[in-house]
Amino acid sequence: MFPQAPPDGILKLSVLSRADTDSNKVDLGVGAYRDDNGKPWVLPVVAKAEQRLQNDPNANHEYMGVGGLPSLTGGAQTLIFGSDSPAIHEGRLYTLQTISGTGANMLGAVFLKEFKVPADAAIYISKPTWGNHRSIFETAGHKVREYRYCNYQTLTLDINGMLEDLRAAPPGQIIVLHACAHNPTGIDPTEEQWSKIADVMAERGHFPFFDCAYQGFATGDVDRDALAIRMFVSRGFELFVAESFAKNMGLYGERTGCLHVVTKDSSLLPAVSSQLNRLSRATISTASAYGAKIAGTVLQDKALYSEWLANMQTMSDRIKSMREALRSKLTELGTPGDWSHVTSQIGMFSFTGLSLDQVETLRNKYHMYLTDDGRISVAALNSNNVEYVAKAIDAVVR
Ligand code: PLP
Repeated sequence: MFPQAPPDGILKLSVLSRADTDSNKVDLGVGAYRDDNGKPWVLPVVAKAEQRLQNDPNANHEYMGVGGLPSLTGGAQTLIFGSDSPAIHEGRLYTLQTISGTGANMLGAVFLKEFKVPADAAIYISKPTWGNHRSIFETAGHKVREYRYCNYQTLTLDINGMLEDLRAAPPGQIIVLHACAHNPTGIDPTEEQWSKIADVMAERGHFPFFDCAYQGFATGDVDRDALAIRMFVSRGFELFVAESFAKNMGLYGERTGCLHVVTKDSSLLPAVSSQLNRLSRATISTASAYGAKIAGTVLQDKALYSEWLANMQTMSDRIKSMREALRSKLTELGTPGDWSHVTSQIGMFSFTGLSLDQVETLRNKYHMYLTDDGRISVAALNSNNVEYVAKAIDAVVR
């Protein structure tokens, strides 16, 4: 016999939320964008791309090649690395389509484990991090360790703690870095801090494994959100990037993503790409087509691409305005504490600093569902519920 698996925190929360029929209910757990009416949003550009696919007389449901759809993988390369990337021009980049960001993390982890790259490395994840990271990397057979990331008193980046932990780790470890819009904290390093992180990683010979699930969500600017990855590439690191189109194209259930691998030398690429293709073939055979066709269409068409950037700006602006609304309501109410982190944090989430007791009271008394660590999805706030949320927070912190 084997023991029952522990419940997944987020999935457990959404079951509880779904069962709650109170009219005041606010589901702040789900990491998915909602419009100002609290509804899922099909990006207008995605609807247009779908229409175009449906009108295509040659449309079919054939298998794709093992590497995935070239319009997606090629477009994704330029999006992440920039069209002038040395990795692209020197033939040191391989990209494979995956089952969204989760599949990219898993495929990368399996590859690093099988080929012991770097030798005897453990995987270091930030404390805290996305709930699934530990599970993915342990399932792939890695030892998982943590580096300090959040100063829980000030709810800002614990840059000194992070640098100390990266320096203290044995040489040549795998370090998982959130490219932007860190989940769950919403706290990203500044450009200067990224540069210090890169210095220590180079000094210690660590291997960067970027997880990029929110490009365009953090600042509304896809290039700015790729800053850290591009900086590491320009410094000559070999690295992985797990990329997801779930959030920035709203393709959550279509499972659209890529794993990008940058090597030092183009001569390594045939071996790396063939082994990744083999692992992908063994696990998913070929990636899913529908989301890839939509994303590939958007990425390759100039007009649709510009429209996509505007759609992302709409999402990012609405999230920013909800941060401001929540903070100003808390200020109006004179809620004890410093709430400046609500607006200084970026991306989809805010790490509120609320305790587990307070989170449970919010859940049981106010029908507000946030994760046990006090994270809220700002994307779930809207003009109808933000005042209710602020008043409930005010009540539990007094
Ligand atoms: N990485 C991070 C940090 C995330 O927050 C998420 C989703 O919440 C993912 C990866 C993967 O998402 P998906 O598999 O839906 O692309």
